[in-house]
Amino acid sequence: MLSATQIAEYQPDANLLAGRAILITGAGDGIGKEVALTSAAHGATVILAGRTVAKLEQVYDQIIAADGPEPTIYPVDLEGATSDNYDELCVHILEQFGRLDGLLLNAGILGQRTPLSNYRQDVWATVMQVNVTAQFQMTQALMPALEKSADASVIFTSSGVGRVGRSFWGAYAVSKFAVEGMVQVWAAELDGLGSVRVNAINPGATATGMRAQAFPAENPGSLKSAAEIMPAYLYLLGSDSKVVNGQSIDAQPHR
Ligand code: NDP
Repeated sequence: MLSATQIAEYQPDANLLAGRAILITGAGDGIGKEVALTSAAHGATVILAGRTVAKLEQVYDQIIAADGPEPTIYPVDLEGATSDNYDELCVHILEQFGRLDGLLLNAGILGQRTPLSNYRQDVWATVMQVNVTAQFQMTQALMPALEKSADASVIFTSSGVGRVGRSFWGAYAVSKFAVEGMVQVWAAELDGLGSVRVNAINPGATATGMRAQAFPAENPGSLKSAAEIMPAYLYLLGSDSKVVNGQSIDAQPHR
């Protein structure tokens, strides 16, 4: 495995992901959009999953305009989707591609920034559904397609507050602790069994809509852009990370 610094500076060939089918949730905006564009630029056929179809269509158009492999769009709201929906998705992926080589579980929501003593029960339940339960259900349902790949990479999305609890981060922090744990359990169960590896990326502070929602007074120009944190995503999506399993990787290790 590369060191944290080597991962943050990873610069692969343009054909790193050629021939790979990769599903990205939250592909219409923020970090997920950037991973979709970057993956396509490195040869991947991307399945753009998200809840706002107009945004997914814009990403689709950008990939086509850049002569990337034609992506597909999968409209899904992680708040309301069920395991049955994800099972159907798996059937479609197997029909279309015969396998799934990458799954980036990127979509997430912030919930409230408020003390736990005031935290609304309904917001808590929604954050846990989107950030934890849906991620588990999608991974479980897509495992048959992932197992058909010779080299499948599942990437969950963590956060600094998923490793050290901090005031006022509420359900978001707890959900990211759950994600860290889920990665370890999946990775331990799959270790040595086949060709599916499961890791997490902590993007670190990145200029997106979610970051602006969490820190409205912050100057986004002081942050890394989503484009600048792509090396860690490319490393985990491509075959150079084939032996990496059960890790939680910082996209910005020195921040
Ligand atoms: P954004 O808010 O910019 O993007 C989130 C994406 O998730 C959007 O495309 C959004 O869709 C989608 N999404 C949200 N809810 C749902 C849902 N119910 N169903 C389907 N899709 C949904 O966030 P970021 O790009 O900043 O965050 C991406 C990931 O990185 C998240 O998991 C976040 O927790 C994590 N992260 C981000 C950091 C940062 O500094 N930006 C730091 C640490 C972690 P739509 O556009 O339709 O709303």
